[in-house]
Amino acid sequence: MISIGKLLVLALLLVGVYFLFFRKPRKKPKAPPKHGEETLTPCEACGTYVSHGEAVIKDGRFFCSKSCAKLPR
Ligand SMILES: [Zn+2]
Repeated sequence: MISIGKLLVLALLLVGVYFLFFRKPRKKPKAPPKHGEETLTPCEACGTYVSHGEAVIKDGRFFCSKSCAKLPR
């Protein structure tokens, strides 16, 4: 049996390792994403085209708003 205490210690260790690797200052070889480059995707519910930045993604589908995402399908 694995106790909750052991799981907590394991989780803390994982978090520690994570921060050790990701806190290193890294140079960014890739160019920053271009602003203004937006892909328009039609809303699954009403067909309105929305940019990826503003779209609501639910179950891998794009919606124009949260109200559309809540619609049952
Ligand atoms: Zn919609």
